[in-house]
Amino acid sequence: MEAISISACQAKSHSTYTRAPAPQQQHQVVYDLKMLKTKSDNPSSKPLTNSTINTEDSTPTVSIHSKHPKGKKYSQMSDAEVQDAVESGQIKFFDLEKELGDEFRAVKIRRNVIESRSKQSFTNLPYEHFDYRTVLGQCCENVIGYATVPVGVAGPLLVDGKEYYIPMATTEGCLVASATRGCKAITQSGGCNAHLIADGMCRAPVLGVPDAKTALALKTWAEINFDKLASTFNATSRFARLVDVQSFIAGRKVYMRFKCTSGDAMGMNMVGKGVEKALELIQRSFPSCSIISLSGNVCTDKKPSAINWIEGRGKSVVCDAVIKGDVIKSVLKTTVDALVELNYAKNLLGSAVAGSIGGQNAHASNIVTSIFLATGQDVAQNVESSTCMTLMEPTNDGQDLYVSVTLPSLEVGTIGGGTQLPAQSAMLSLLGVKGSDPEAPGKNAANLARIIGAAVMAGELSLMSALSSGALIKSHMKLNRREPATTELASSCPAGGQ
Ligand code: ADP
Repeated sequence: MEAISISACQAKSHSTYTRAPAPQQQHQVVYDLKMLKTKSDNPSSKPLTNSTINTEDSTPTVSIHSKHPKGKKYSQMSDAEVQDAVESGQIKFFDLEKELGDEFRAVKIRRNVIESRSKQSFTNLPYEHFDYRTVLGQCCENVIGYATVPVGVAGPLLVDGKEYYIPMATTEGCLVASATRGCKAITQSGGCNAHLIADGMCRAPVLGVPDAKTALALKTWAEINFDKLASTFNATSRFARLVDVQSFIAGRKVYMRFKCTSGDAMGMNMVGKGVEKALELIQRSFPSCSIISLSGNVCTDKKPSAINWIEGRGKSVVCDAVIKGDVIKSVLKTTVDALVELNYAKNLLGSAVAGSIGGQNAHASNIVTSIFLATGQDVAQNVESSTCMTLMEPTNDGQDLYVSVTLPSLEVGTIGGGTQLPAQSAMLSLLGVKGSDPEAPGKNAANLARIIGAAVMAGELSLMSALSSGALIKSHMKLNRREPATTELASSCPAGGQ
């Protein structure tokens, strides 16, 4: 589903910083029930009300684990007895953590219930060695274990004078090897530069007004009263800062696209909270206006749209480099001319023929999504985060290649959501961008976006080289047919997706 502010699915919220107490300390478990009330794009969910909006530091609801009707505490029963209690409906399937006060045991028993109902064994779905307190109320519900995805590293990649190893979680053979080859070409050419050119997470509620005249009045009011809107919006967070409100009119509907910076957080929760407050102010001035939905799809979250491509959403980054002619020959096994010609024919002309919006690239999504997975980003946002324009031109009298990638809507954060899970957090540490930047909040998230942009460029260079030299199929057959990836393969592997 779309990531509505304060949604449970996006693994967000206040509760991120309010850990559930350890089971042995208290027989309590934290549930962020508020989140369940705020999924406004979910038709079954209740409408968002003021009471469901909380300040960042609010404490989630706590409930004490309960007793079996006959008086014995559920936590004192055997696993089999608890399983029976679930099957007989005494304990709700989703309530196991709360009733037992023990997240790990709840996961184990829930697995048993599903194994028994489905008559399937989950031996291959791991569940041990995991702190489920980092998941509960934040990242997932009805947990029965965790999926494993291999994580590889590409690199080193020299970005603005600093070397990085890029964590990539993927099951696509050849991808990491290919990205590594691109990193090698960039690094051997002296590295690349990566810039943040814009920053702002967006949420666009849809408002209903009596007629088009009022719609225009509302749009004009929002322009004149931006400062008022901003102070109301900004009061909801230490980090959210409103930077723009754009209003789009369609008959008697108004879509107000609020854009804010969000420190090191990806910002969906923050922008949602800010918009809620701003809407209260708007309704005071326009009592005839009704809030149809906190999200009116002009945001646009997790769906293809031109607006993100043109206006940006999250971080907008541009990276460029000059790849030396001799490196193109020795590492990428192609030529400047072949790359330039292919880039025109495929990424520009081919995408124009296809009517693509933001698909002017070879496989940005491969790199973006694998890093998103490895670092705990909201993977569904790969839809807009992977839009990218790759450009290649000859430079230095045609000896070398000027290459750039521009990604206008890269939605990333280094705090909140899945970024706090242990494995993902370790990969953010590998990149030196974990958590909140203490001196300059927002710097870690900006750096993560810059690094992803640079890695995308590495991926583009390698795949484009493979296509220009016809080595794609050969390498896929080699690496995807169980031959171990040797150093030689990694350095010559040309492909990824396409
Ligand atoms: P999102 O808005 O991306 O959904 P969350 O609400 O899950 O983010 O997480 C952001 C939380 O982290 C907020 O409660 C915020 O106060 C806190 N926080 C701490 N340091 C920072 C920082 N440097 N940048 C942004 N948020 C921060």
